[in-house]
Amino acid sequence: MIRVRLIFEQGGLCYYCGIRIIIGDNHPRAATLDHIVPLGLGGTNKLSNLVMACRSCNGAKGCKSEKRFKSEMDQDRAGG
Ligand SMILES: [Zn+2]
Repeated sequence: MIRVRLIFEQGGLCYYCGIRIIIGDNHPRAATLDHIVPLGLGGTNKLSNLVMACRSCNGAKGCKSEKRFKSEMDQDRAGG
């Protein structure tokens, strides 16, 4: 199970925002498999391109690159 392995390697935390993710459906903190580089931007399905993210981060990230998504998160924290 690649998901369980990734969750374990990340210490049970979301790759992007660091909250504790849970295994389950229909929950904002549900663990979802995310592509660091979206497939639409040339990413692969290799393990090195996969992380576990909470549902809310996964939904917010969409098809953005990791760099762009993180810069948007920083702007949110700054109150922008
Ligand atoms: Zn998150």
